[in-house]
Amino acid sequence: MAAYREASESQAQLLEALVEAGHLIPSGVPGVYGRGSDYEAVRLAFDAYVTRAALAAGETPEVLRFPPVLPRRQIEDLGYLENFPHLAGSVFAFEGSEGQARAMAEVAGQHGDWSEHQHPSDLCLTPAVCYPVYPAVARRGTLPAGGVTIDPGASYAFRHEPSGDPARLQMFHMRELVRIAEPETVQTWRDSWRDRALALLVDLGLDARFDVANDPFFGRAGRMMAASQRDQALKFEILVDITDPEPTAIASFNYHQDHFSGLYGIETADGGTAHTACLGFGHERIVLALLKTHGLDVAAWPGEVRSLLWDSVG
Ligand code: AMP
Ligand code: ZN
Repeated sequence: MAAYREASESQAQLLEALVEAGHLIPSGVPGVYGRGSDYEAVRLAFDAYVTRAALAAGETPEVLRFPPVLPRRQIEDLGYLENFPHLAGSVFAFEGSEGQARAMAEVAGQHGDWSEHQHPSDLCLTPAVCYPVYPAVARRGTLPAGGVTIDPGASYAFRHEPSGDPARLQMFHMRELVRIAEPETVQTWRDSWRDRALALLVDLGLDARFDVANDPFFGRAGRMMAASQRDQALKFEILVDITDPEPTAIASFNYHQDHFSGLYGIETADGGTAHTACLGFGHERIVLALLKTHGLDVAAWPGEVRSLLWDSVG
């Protein structure tokens, strides 16, 4: 299997315990799991906790929702295949005759390679939940004064990184918020959400801290991109120790400068190029961190944590 990462001992143990407790339901493919009801209840409660925090901070982001597929054209325009060719997934489908369908089914029935019968569709799988937001906002024309804050919700993202680590999934939920405005406004927003998110996660009992980070750019040129991203502190992550050997990033705060706004031509009210930033909470990783910290029996979690997730309103 391509690029499969073996689990460390503690990762394998945690995965086994999660499956045993009914939190994760294995599909047979690494990094693709069903979710049990307690796990899902925590995930949805965490999402609502973030929504309440945004409101409490005086934000009323505009809710937009997108399916977890992107036009192939958009992946091409974004340069995703230059930066992250190893993570992208594209959708292929059958477009042949009855005879070809029979030939494909026969090979597939024997678990052979039936890819020669598949043709590229117009779609790729969405690798980051904010991607559809930028062209959608660009379509509206010039931004209103003060820019916009968009809530694209907690949708599925796909990344082809098969692994035995229960924290490294191929399909997972990312709760994003996106700010598109003047450069200083966007930077201040990104930093204030980084600090607010850390407090929200620490309040839930997680031993979390933030650090400068980089995206997993591909290849040798990618190493330079990653170094430059770090030098400019364009990306922060919130880290928690879940398993050995490394801490796990449970949330990210990204300042894209004019990367997306330049591509789509998004202008501020006074005619300047807008900048963009986004934040992404990794839902499954946050649930995992909570289960690791407070135990696999959600009903027995500390009262303060349960009440922050379920009781507090407003
Ligand atoms: P990124 O766009 O890479 O910063 O991802 C946003 C957030 O999604 C990260 O902070 C992680 O919490 C989460 N995430 C990224 N990749 C994975 C993965 N393979 N499995 C589970 N969660 C992930
Ligand atoms: Zn994003």
